[in-house]
Amino acid sequence: MAECIFCKIAAGEIPADTVLERDGLLVFKDIQPKAPVHVLVIPTKHVETVDDLSDGDESLAGRMVLAARDAARQLGVEKDGYRLVMNCRSSAGQEVFHIHLHLLAGRPMGAMG
Ligand code: 5GP
Ligand code: ZN
Repeated sequence: MAECIFCKIAAGEIPADTVLERDGLLVFKDIQPKAPVHVLVIPTKHVETVDDLSDGDESLAGRMVLAARDAARQLGVEKDGYRLVMNCRSSAGQEVFHIHLHLLAGRPMGAMG
């Protein structure tokens, strides 16, 4: 997608602070972190929302979670713990329409609101 900011990051056209890159996935630091550790896991392939994932994307979705697990270990937050979040469309507050898994850590997360 020509105008998608995360496609541009995946293509290296826009710089990002990369944490991990593998299997058609990229993990990079969020530009406006909401926690001391805040990274995003994205597929290099463009998928707009979680609702646009197909059954054939089973592996992709699973690999995103495993990449988050490994990024958490790399960042040293796996023992204290972390939160994984995927926002889907407007009610959830999705702003970038290229799926991404947020990994948040380094502070108490509190109850889900
Ligand atoms: P959403 O609200 O769509 O779930 O989250 C989008 C996230 O992408 C936000 O936390 C925002 O700070 C982050 N973000 C938006 N644009 C950029 C960018 O150009 N670079 C990086 N690293 N993060 C971005
Ligand atoms: Zn995209």
